[in-house]
Amino acid sequence: MIALSLAEIAEVVGGQTHDIPDPSVQVTGPVVRDSREAGPGSLFVAFVGERVDGHDYAAAVVEAGAAAVLASRPVGVPAIVVEDVQAALGALARHVVGRLGATLVALTGSAGKTSTKDLIAQVLGSKAPTVFTPGSLNNEIGLPLTALTATEETKFLVLEMGARGIGHIRYLTGLTPPRVGLVLNVGSAHIGEFGGREQIAEAKGELVEALPPAEEGGTAILNADDPFVRAMASRTKAKVILFGESDEADVSAENVRLTDSGQPSFRLHTPSGASDVTMRLYGEHHVSNALAAAAVAHELGMSADEIARALSEAGSLSRWRMEVTERPDGVTVVNDAYNANPESMKAALRALAAMGKGRRTWAVLGKMAELGDEALAEHDAVGRLAVRLNVSKLVAVGGREAAWLQLGAYNEGSWGEESVHVSDAQAAVDLLRSELRPGDVVLVKASRSVGLESVAQALLETG
Ligand code: ATP
Ligand code: MG
Repeated sequence: MIALSLAEIAEVVGGQTHDIPDPSVQVTGPVVRDSREAGPGSLFVAFVGERVDGHDYAAAVVEAGAAAVLASRPVGVPAIVVEDVQAALGALARHVVGRLGATLVALTGSAGKTSTKDLIAQVLGSKAPTVFTPGSLNNEIGLPLTALTATEETKFLVLEMGARGIGHIRYLTGLTPPRVGLVLNVGSAHIGEFGGREQIAEAKGELVEALPPAEEGGTAILNADDPFVRAMASRTKAKVILFGESDEADVSAENVRLTDSGQPSFRLHTPSGASDVTMRLYGEHHVSNALAAAAVAHELGMSADEIARALSEAGSLSRWRMEVTERPDGVTVVNDAYNANPESMKAALRALAAMGKGRRTWAVLGKMAELGDEALAEHDAVGRLAVRLNVSKLVAVGGREAAWLQLGAYNEGSWGEESVHVSDAQAAVDLLRSELRPGDVVLVKASRSVGLESVAQALLETG
């Protein structure tokens, strides 16, 4: 972070200094909420959680070298005391990003935020120093903590923003006001909490409402193929750039295909030129993510060739997303157990089919959560697609939804040899351990709550 004295921080957050002998002591970062990460020059933020109270660690972090604690009560060691620690953290982030020369890019959407954020970070990072959200730390605490890791050298600050309700994105954009705002899609994630797709669109669209007007450089980057996102153009004064397959799109892909290893390849078109991309990531859902990243990079001055090169080199920075590992015995395990929705399930199956040409392919799938009334039809469709793609064996794991997956396979003409239904992850592991043969390819995928990564991990441990 940029160095600030304790006195400056106290002023920015409107706090009282307690037990601070020298207010000119500099905080050089990091700002942390986990006491184990506190070290010399750091500022420890003491939150009161359900199980632990950060204040209990105040003495330990100062012992470890932390400059002070941001706290809601005096703690007997150097502290800046405020009423509301979260608000103070936000105010500090707001102050610091205001002093940075960096361009802020924020993105939201129902699916693909982290994958796309990782792509943007790698593409922009190939051009200039870039700081970005680690993993999915996209909420009111993770976002300011991330922003505070930026330094004077940082040119681009790329921030993932999550929303679980109306007003959440507005709050986050208040902490770190973006110049470029990207909305990926309005899907069904958290639809129960929101009440419906319109509400989700309402909440995500707060991002484009927060952008500066076009004259001041504000740019909204919107998915032309998603009607809910496309419609957000009317909610912003920023310039609009569209990406996607639609004829309207400013940034698009031509000749999209999957290579034999399941990696998308396409010709990227941007307003400043065209260039060929072959991704290292697996699954065609990344084409849309790549176009979104390309639109951001185009807006920030990169040429089509530069963008295409960086997209072709970009790897996965986050766990359990189409993680391909080859066992010594030649079995390939594709761990995509981080999460699932109908679109990414189908994309993963197509990638499996492409990778598995001439090999036996296994799709170990669990439920896709939060689909409401569409759940039966969507699971049925995935089961059917597995058969149509000639996946050698579908292993449906879990309860009712797994039965629907198998039913889909059955309805598509599989009479049972190609699909089995097992009750839980352990049963799937037992089955696979006894039946896998060298050369087989195994895809493991389900919604987060199913926790199917345990299957992928077990397969790799025994390889
Ligand atoms: P979270 O809300 O958990 O932070 P996220 O929006 O950051 O999720 P990712 O972590 O990038 O999303 O991806 C989650 C899952 O969504 C991945 O496992 C992948 O299967 C799927 N996915 C990724 N990109 C897309 C996309 N463009 N469309 C649909 N599904 C996608
Ligand atoms: Mg995420």
